[in-house]
Amino acid sequence: MIQVQSFTFNPFQENTYVLFDETRQALIIDPGCNSSAEQQILTNFIAQHQLQVVRLLNTHCHIDHVFGNQFVKDTYQVKLAIHPLDLPTLKSCKMASEMYGIKPFIESEPDEYLEEGKDAIRFGHSSLDVLFVPGHAPGHVAFVSQADRFIIGGDVLFEMSIGRTDFPGCDHEALLRSIREKLFPLGDDFVVHSGHGRDTTIGKERKFNPFVGEMAS
Ligand SMILES: [Zn+2]
Ligand SMILES: [Zn+2]
Repeated sequence: MIQVQSFTFNPFQENTYVLFDETRQALIIDPGCNSSAEQQILTNFIAQHQLQVVRLLNTHCHIDHVFGNQFVKDTYQVKLAIHPLDLPTLKSCKMASEMYGIKPFIESEPDEYLEEGKDAIRFGHSSLDVLFVPGHAPGHVAFVSQADRFIIGGDVLFEMSIGRTDFPGCDHEALLRSIREKLFPLGDDFVVHSGHGRDTTIGKERKFNPFVGEMAS
């Protein structure tokens, strides 16, 4: 069974996730740790729980989700996997950091590319499916545990909200399709661990989300 631990990091209040199972193998998803204090919180948790970090994943590469990429790669000697269509997003982070006045920003390179339906992400006794859910970012993916009924959803679907589509590379219609055609069919009982804010469920959002739920159409 996968345990999901979240941390809220950086000025954008981004949720960073550590997933691990009974084998103590762990994944880090969207490491937003930006200060040495935040880096310490992450490494302390991993040390205290005696976790072996085996892989680093990004749901998408907006700056708030990738601040800690290089730190995690260096600290745990793991590979970074992203969707290839989000490489331009990753490459634009340096510019974004200057625009937001956040310095220094350490750039990172992906080592592996994710693709929907190709290989599941395996760690310990567990696995996650990769779902391609573009719209908020061109190469946005979600990670789905069928066994434990949850989604690490990044910035696609939030409690009573959806991802912004006013950045370059965004596509509002694609975002709505991603939610309605990829996430909602997973099932109402799925818990959504979002990139910002509190957890929600597919059932709650399918019924009540003001942007994409039944009330919206
Ligand atoms: Zn984002
Ligand atoms: Zn975000």
